[in-house]
Amino acid sequence: MILAKARVTNRQIVKSREIDIDQALVAVYSELKRHMVMSGTIEFRKHIREQIEYRFDPLTNAQVRINPARARRIKQAAASVNELDQLIKESRRTCPFCPERVEKDTPCFPKDISEEGRIRVGESLIFPNLNPFGECHAVGILSKEHYLNLDQFSPEMIENNLLAASHYILSTHAQNSEARYPVYMWNYMPPSAGSIIHPHVQILLEREPAPQLSKLIERSLDYYEKEGRNYWADLVEEEKRLGERFIIGDNILSVIASFAPCGFNEVCFIFGGISSLTQLDERRMETFSIYLSKVLQAYRNMGVGSFNLATLSGAVDQNQAQFYWMSAKLISRPYPRGIYTNDSGPMERMQGVWVVDTLPEELTKQIKPALDSKSP
Ligand SMILES: [Zn+2]
Repeated sequence: MILAKARVTNRQIVKSREIDIDQALVAVYSELKRHMVMSGTIEFRKHIREQIEYRFDPLTNAQVRINPARARRIKQAAASVNELDQLIKESRRTCPFCPERVEKDTPCFPKDISEEGRIRVGESLIFPNLNPFGECHAVGILSKEHYLNLDQFSPEMIENNLLAASHYILSTHAQNSEARYPVYMWNYMPPSAGSIIHPHVQILLEREPAPQLSKLIERSLDYYEKEGRNYWADLVEEEKRLGERFIIGDNILSVIASFAPCGFNEVCFIFGGISSLTQLDERRMETFSIYLSKVLQAYRNMGVGSFNLATLSGAVDQNQAQFYWMSAKLISRPYPRGIYTNDSGPMERMQGVWVVDTLPEELTKQIKPALDSKSP
């Protein structure tokens, strides 16, 4: 009896140990799972309702809705006559940015910003904006040509412009230490909000970050404090591993079709290891110019005739690269014609939701061949 009782007791012990082992395994598994979620994994969250993909930006949680079928919808405005040639010809006659008028029609910087009044590198020329919408707002002409198609912007042209822009930003900051947040923006053709045809960029240097930049820096810091890792490094790593939206890149610059874009055909350039425009070294500047020139060629092949580009740069006097990497976003805009179907409506302007036609994974297939052809 005693023996039997002892056996029962042992079985009970073994059984209870098995339960303990099971419970321990469950505990280990959930700890592992928690660790996997906490160890810097980027979440590409999406769900599909009635053929519409609802996607959420992995950092900001901003919502985008993608329905590729919308690209095939009837756009009655597309039937209007293409007046592009006429617009180029007419605007050429009075263009203030063309070589014969630029010296007398545009203002000059004070001597402490530029001895010559305007900053010139190659064909690039930077001068103050007569109609600013921001602090220290300058304009930079890219070329002497009044009109260039998307496949005519050479890497050299872009690089010269970036060099001139950096010079302007550094000189301005040296004179006014409160001007700290640089923005480099390019509105190409009227549908992008560019009022002048002649290829030009806008350069601003502001006291505070714009709301979207502020949000990105804040969320990147939250991620860093929570995960102990740089969100942008994790994003590049994860996109490279998945291979669906990663176009080209290395540790200094990566080109990715954004998972949750805020515009049509959005391409994101992520500058590894730097947080500000003024930290752009020669290699990064050269690589970016080559990649941008090639993406614009790909855009042209896709039938794009207008675009916006904007950098999201941290402050010039602060190195935040530990948790925030500078990026630039490029989006296409409707083709320039007399009357066209706009690409943003009440959802974007009043509801804060971006509705686009193209899946980033499809865009990657269209852009990648242009960048695979020759790496810098
Ligand atoms: Zn012109």
